[in-house]
Amino acid sequence: MKKYKVTIGMEVHVELGTKSKMFCSCRNGIGLTKKANQNICEICTAQPGALPVPNVKAIEYVMRAGLALNCRIAKNTKFDRKNYFYPDLPKGYQISQYDQPICENGQIEFNYWDKKRNKKNSKVGITRIHLEEDTGKLIHSKEGTLVDFNRAGIPLMELVTEPDLNSSEEAKQFCIELRRIFRYLKISTADMEKGQMRCEANISLYKEGKDKLSGTKVELKNINSFKAVEKGIEYEIKRQTNLLKKNKKIIQETRGWNNKKGKTFSQRIKENSDDYRYFPEPDILPLKFTKEEINRIKYSLPELPWERESRFIRQMGLTEQNAKILVDYEELANYFEQVISELDDWVKINNKDISEVNKQKLYKLTANYLLTETQKHLFEKELTVKDIKITPENFAELIKIIYKGEINSSVAQVVLLEMFKQGTDPSHIIDEKKLAQTNNERELEKIAEQVIAENQKSVEDYKKGKENAVRFLMGQVMKVTQGKANPQLAMKILKDKLK
Ligand SMILES: [Zn+2]
Repeated sequence: MKKYKVTIGMEVHVELGTKSKMFCSCRNGIGLTKKANQNICEICTAQPGALPVPNVKAIEYVMRAGLALNCRIAKNTKFDRKNYFYPDLPKGYQISQYDQPICENGQIEFNYWDKKRNKKNSKVGITRIHLEEDTGKLIHSKEGTLVDFNRAGIPLMELVTEPDLNSSEEAKQFCIELRRIFRYLKISTADMEKGQMRCEANISLYKEGKDKLSGTKVELKNINSFKAVEKGIEYEIKRQTNLLKKNKKIIQETRGWNNKKGKTFSQRIKENSDDYRYFPEPDILPLKFTKEEINRIKYSLPELPWERESRFIRQMGLTEQNAKILVDYEELANYFEQVISELDDWVKINNKDISEVNKQKLYKLTANYLLTETQKHLFEKELTVKDIKITPENFAELIKIIYKGEINSSVAQVVLLEMFKQGTDPSHIIDEKKLAQTNNERELEKIAEQVIAENQKSVEDYKKGKENAVRFLMGQVMKVTQGKANPQLAMKILKDKLK
């Protein structure tokens, strides 16, 4: 029997982080005021005679997104009215863009690691990115349904992809990658839980060997977390597969995701775009952009996440995966770069003859300690990078001490934990807690003799050829010295004594 394959396209709405709303001077900021209908004016509530004025910054933000995603930027664009009635829409239509979006024909390529830790590459075509305005919010209460227009008129960017995604996991990773890009572009915080980024998926199944668009498209809405993107799509794939296996027809419809029940449910039969009776917005003139204007925005783009990743790999010798995790957490990556700049200064002044390999060792050590020990500490206490009390100077100091072999890795963890608590420099903690590594040969010899005398069974095993027995003895030495013995030296002394 032929298998079913899945094809997924995404529609992503993002609230842009401009200072004011899309067509009026009301502040843009949900949560600025808790009271309903405080952040509104005659334009965003559509009073008769009020005229919209487009927010230039919002248009620039959409262009930034388009340029980062390799889109063609339109030199001529316009706004259109999308007509539909809903109580959260004060005008009875939404100002949107129909046939002349600001961006078209883009592409995004990214890597991710799946659950089995295999590296995957994904390429997704971007059909279009356009600009529109957000709607108000309905609040269902005991007194009835109320409406809050604080959100109405907030600039909303809509991005539509080609049906290039093939699994629920890939779709989730795509959304995560988009959020990362929007955050690096500083156009939105794109927090899904706060509704600043809303993802919808178009899912259809087709029989292997047939055209990939031969299935019936089902639109999935109400997804408010990355996890829900994956779960919702997974559920839909199963639901549709079961129907097809029973020779039942898939209805072209919009379905919602119920997070509590872990199920999708039918919302409405899909409308065609002509149901919206789009026509050009008569109150706003068409917009024209010159090549120079577009180029000015292009050259002002910041370093993009994948560019930063490849710099970390190329210049600092980080693994692909470590580079990606660091870059994912922009603030952590910034902190990393501050520590690196301290280390570079140290190398320039005190260690000019250091080899490139050893220099990369310093960078890799920094990344490892930030991604394992530091992350662990932050997660446990639900802290963010801003809560790290350790200055980059002190963090660099710790890395130098580890690099020079003055403390081993288990002691380093103790020192780091103290640094978190006290915010002081590592040398101070090492002195105070007497944590410096023991390189004292005579002292280590004494301890080795004591351990050998107390563990005759292991000594015999070792002499019979059991190499592992020496590890046990080494563990005993570490126990006696509280982890402070220089491991190479202690091992050499042990083996000499066992000859
Ligand atoms: Zn307003």
